[in-house]
Amino acid sequence: MRYAEPLFRPPSEAESFILQATLGCSWNACTYCAMYRTKTFQVRPLDAVLGDIAEAGARFADEVRHVFVADGDPLAMDLDHWEPILRALAAAFPRLRRVSTYATARNLLEKSPEQLRRLRELGLALLYIGPESGDNLTLQRLAKGATAAEHEEAARRARDAGLEQSLIFLLGAGGRERSEAHARASGRLATAMDPKFLSTLTLTVVPGTPLARLAEQGRFELPDVPGLLTELRWFIEEAHPAAAIFRSNHASNYLPIGGRLPRDREAILAAIDAALAGQVPLRPEWSRGL
Ligand code: SF4
Repeated sequence: MRYAEPLFRPPSEAESFILQATLGCSWNACTYCAMYRTKTFQVRPLDAVLGDIAEAGARFADEVRHVFVADGDPLAMDLDHWEPILRALAAAFPRLRRVSTYATARNLLEKSPEQLRRLRELGLALLYIGPESGDNLTLQRLAKGATAAEHEEAARRARDAGLEQSLIFLLGAGGRERSEAHARASGRLATAMDPKFLSTLTLTVVPGTPLARLAEQGRFELPDVPGLLTELRWFIEEAHPAAAIFRSNHASNYLPIGGRLPRDREAILAAIDAALAGQVPLRPEWSRGL
């Protein structure tokens, strides 16, 4: 099987069969994102995708438990592609337990409740969504394509359909100027969207992106390391999901921590305070990554 590079997946899908049903991202406009700038969005021909499933099924039928559908926002695909793909995955992999994909709030809002329920019935189980911020001004500056309220409505539709969410928020996304507003509103949006998995990454200004050009012009500046840790504290203070597994162990973060919310809230806050007081080592700059 040949993949069209670049290919991205969440760290938690490292053991999954990656099925490239679409190429690129249908939105492809977020100012900080360089992931798919070299690709024009397209839904791959159904025959080719079903061929990939058949090929993987012939080789790994009993091994595959998890499938991740790539690239950037495959939920944009119509059901006339999703339905045969999900059926073929179930037939090819008898031990399949979970199909997941990246999704945006716009993708969710463009599907009807019936369509989302149908996707769940056919095996789609988990959506990775990156609101990045709950602050509307920050969302607008990031060109995320949806407001906080639209993300909240998208999450409600996902939950109503039985689709689980893994949410990603970006420390530093508001720059120094919106730091506290961004972090606190992000925590509040995490509460409202109520995911099963919740994580924070740290924004990296990637050369060649619109955000990098703003940074070069002095119009965007990331908070310093204590500022980013303080954002994490504000975020955790505001985030009250019903029951979520929280992680900030992505390679972009200075302080890798995790736990369950709300159960471990005080321990997480204590770990952040210890880091702010210089009592725990932070991930060194050289070992951080995107
Ligand atoms: S929706 Fe995701 S993949 Fe698409 S441009 Fe935005 S961050 Fe990049």
